[in-house]
Amino acid sequence: MKKVFAGSCIVFILLGVLVFESRAQSGPDLTFVIRVDDILSRNTTILPRSIQPFEQVVESRGAKITWGVIPHRLIETPNLDGVLAAEIRASVEAGHEVSLHGYVHICQRCNQSNHEMYCSTQRTPFTYNEQKELFSKGLEILEEHTGVKPVSFIPPGHVSDQTTIQVLHDSGFRYLSTAINRGYVTDSVYNLPVNGEYSWAITESTYLSNLTSALADIRTAANSSGVYALMLHDPFIRSGYQNGITLAWMGELLDSLNVEYEDRIQYKTLTEAGDFITERVSVALEKPVEAPTEFVLHQNYPNPFNATTQIPFTLNVSSPVKIEIFSILGQSLGVLVEEVFSAGMHTVTFEANEFSTGLYLYRITTPDATQTKVMNFLK
Ligand SMILES: [Zn+2]
Ligand SMILES: [Zn+2]
Repeated sequence: MKKVFAGSCIVFILLGVLVFESRAQSGPDLTFVIRVDDILSRNTTILPRSIQPFEQVVESRGAKITWGVIPHRLIETPNLDGVLAAEIRASVEAGHEVSLHGYVHICQRCNQSNHEMYCSTQRTPFTYNEQKELFSKGLEILEEHTGVKPVSFIPPGHVSDQTTIQVLHDSGFRYLSTAINRGYVTDSVYNLPVNGEYSWAITESTYLSNLTSALADIRTAANSSGVYALMLHDPFIRSGYQNGITLAWMGELLDSLNVEYEDRIQYKTLTEAGDFITERVSVALEKPVEAPTEFVLHQNYPNPFNATTQIPFTLNVSSPVKIEIFSILGQSLGVLVEEVFSAGMHTVTFEANEFSTGLYLYRITTPDATQTKVMNFLK
């Protein structure tokens, strides 16, 4: 059976007007995340290897850092003296976040350093047990040397697969930051990807153009999703860091943002931003109804999807069924299907051609109960 939902255009035009009016008075809000990958790099040519100067630049502007820490580096030269481990612990105590960044950041199949959880050179996956072992070993080292237990994960080289997500879910991780669309990747794991990187190999001649590009990019995100995650790579050991250029650039970017957004900018770690975003989503979700014994609403597939997805549900008895689509703010965008279905499993097709990229809710209602789930449309 196939149902094509019409009428979404009109709904979106109305929503657009409302959003525009509320923003015209105060300007857009912005949730801003700074993610720093690959700290504890093997590059030993630049000393001292302290994360603190970067942290001071960020902290003094009211911002927060999420450090992507490669656990194995803690037990390699030159980090055996424990100085960086102590700095990481202090940083978390000061309100920043440590995110697990793989185990050793080297693929154990092909020995390349640009991926680890999935071999993108040979295009072959690692098994569940292999990935679970990388996780466990990484967590063990991190906890032993820093006392920190992360709840977020950054796959090395942005490369991960469905097995990685399953391991995260089973390990109680709540957040992931990788190169897939923002949104729930399981019922309990939420992905918040980075938007862009501007300080990679930054020089005096690219300083200003990178700053302008970053600010324009951030402005676009503020006007649409209201969230921006900036990426940097190991800014304390790169050559640009030594002469202070990355520090100056970061400071100037944050100063510009603070002037432009004033109290409308909120600096958050990856997990804090995830909590903030998913709270907004869950507020829009209805309170779960007791014991939905007459039916089960399954997760749509594929998810994320573009532009068509299947919504399966199972009925114990023949029953009238209504499936309705909502925005994450809980506004009804229309009824997908409303008719009597027989007992058994059914699938309804949802086409989102007229919709914008983002999270949507779908709700099934029978005379006895109701259930709602989240789906992720990615154009
Ligand atoms: Zn590989
Ligand atoms: Zn990395």
